[in-house]
Amino acid sequence: MAISEAEIAQVRSATDIVALITEYVALKKVGRRWQGLCPFHAEKSPSFSVNAEEGRYYCFGCRVSGDQITFIREMQHLDFVEAVRVLADRAGIVLHEDDAAGPARKDRQEFLAAMNKAVEWYHDRLLNSPDARRARDYLRSRGISGEVARQFHLGWAPDEWDALAKSLDLSPKVLEGTGLGFVNKRDRRQDALRARLIFPIFDSANKAIAVGGRILPDAPEDPDGYRQAKYKNSPETPIYSKRRTLYGLNWAKDDIIKSGEIIVCEGYTDVIACFQAGLPRAVATCGTALGEEHFRIMRNFAKRIVLAYDADSAGQSAAASVYQWERQHEVDVFVAKLPKGSDPAELAHREPAALASAISSAVPFLQFRLDRVLDAANLTTAEGRARNAEAALRVLAEHPSDLVRDQYLLKVADALRLDLATLRPRVSELVGNPQAKAVVVDRPRQPRVSEPLPRPGLEALRLSLHFPHDVKDRFIAEYFVNEVQREIFLGLSTGQSVSEVVDHLRRQGEDGAADVLSELSVDEFDREYTVDDVTAVVAQMLRSAVTAQLRDVERELRNSEMTPDVAIATIRDVKERLEMLDGPQGSVAEADLRAWLLARWANRA
Ligand SMILES: [Zn+2]
Repeated sequence: MAISEAEIAQVRSATDIVALITEYVALKKVGRRWQGLCPFHAEKSPSFSVNAEEGRYYCFGCRVSGDQITFIREMQHLDFVEAVRVLADRAGIVLHEDDAAGPARKDRQEFLAAMNKAVEWYHDRLLNSPDARRARDYLRSRGISGEVARQFHLGWAPDEWDALAKSLDLSPKVLEGTGLGFVNKRDRRQDALRARLIFPIFDSANKAIAVGGRILPDAPEDPDGYRQAKYKNSPETPIYSKRRTLYGLNWAKDDIIKSGEIIVCEGYTDVIACFQAGLPRAVATCGTALGEEHFRIMRNFAKRIVLAYDADSAGQSAAASVYQWERQHEVDVFVAKLPKGSDPAELAHREPAALASAISSAVPFLQFRLDRVLDAANLTTAEGRARNAEAALRVLAEHPSDLVRDQYLLKVADALRLDLATLRPRVSELVGNPQAKAVVVDRPRQPRVSEPLPRPGLEALRLSLHFPHDVKDRFIAEYFVNEVQREIFLGLSTGQSVSEVVDHLRRQGEDGAADVLSELSVDEFDREYTVDDVTAVVAQMLRSAVTAQLRDVERELRNSEMTPDVAIATIRDVKERLEMLDGPQGSVAEADLRAWLLARWANRA
């Protein structure tokens, strides 16, 4: 890797850490720090703290810490160099990398730029081109106005083989790298989408990364006589990962954070319909099922997740996985009960209020699944009731919590008019069956346990960190009895930034020191410090440093055969000066003791 230290520092200082983190997590200003829910562990009250000036974050819950680069590494699962590139892209910094590392990054930039241009091109065609009239008419018939088309950057891919590739002069490499086109068998460039409405897909930082295309309802069969797929989406590319993308998140983020709720739909038009129905907190998965990565993203924004699928698909979601993610990410999954045969887009168009009420009265996922069984129950015969009970108990058994299962068991017994005592053992049996119990136990990060650090040393580090100029030269490394604190102090004395010191400590294997420094750097610190306070801290540190050394001297004396009068006199002398530290001659004693301490240190070395 060949990104220079100077460029890394440049990327760090160009990246506002609060702006960066808010792309993933809601942060609120508290005092001089920013606080939010930790994206790295599940929690309900915020213990994630960000220091904007130092560009550092720290979690008081799971003790993760880091800077802009580590944050993006963790969030996007990148290595160090990749993370620096992402941030450099974001900040518009051109890195002078060597040729070995450069191309992939340059490609990404090229692809993003091309995607952005393509989205604008499609959009312009929809708004202005005569051949898009059918598309505009269709949108209008669905209640999608020009204003809405602009808001969501909708587009039109004309009914031509290579209109996009030609107009933007996209190279074969860019066509394939973005998924916007390909080189066909006749060795000609060809667009991936033609005669389709375009729904551009943006990442949460508002960069276009892919497009989805929908045929118009009256679309003819394609020239080869095949019926075309209703939707056709960009493939996975270097700039687009389906399982990490939620369509609409870039627009919905603010309202999701404000409301604490996120609505998950199946299609682009459902998302747009929710926005139009006054629910601007909807997202959709893009051509893939709702998965673990999606939960990982969503839980950073809201705790209440409402699935707004058409009735059949909602019931088919993999229950075991949903329960597992609910638990692992501490979110609650609800299902909106839409009238049979309707999806959010259709319902919003027909009766917007009904959609809003279906969302607000959504039921827990387990209840939704149980209701489906119970609603269909045949209660007239004993055999019918038994069959339905078996089906309901199987649904129940999928839930990992016995407390939850028990609550719902009552409902089942009531609904089917069966005896609770006979149902309970059957649930246990089903739960015991490994097939019914496909729940993986999650592994939360273990908070690291560390010894408490001596107070005066910590105060000294805080002062060195927050008021480096005021306390310069007041502290010396020998004052620090605690080795971890001494390492940190030495690091800070080099004048490097906190992030550089943390990196350095980690490279030295001083992870403990790196952790402590990370924590200190986001520490709330709004007290005023006076000269007297600093003196008091110095006196306390000196006292413990000198006392520690005196103990060594005494031990040496005890272990030696001689009676070294000089040493004993020195000890007495030092002890007197230690007492003077708190008296009117404190500063004299301080200077003496400091000299003594340094002399001892020099001898020891
Ligand atoms: Zn945490």
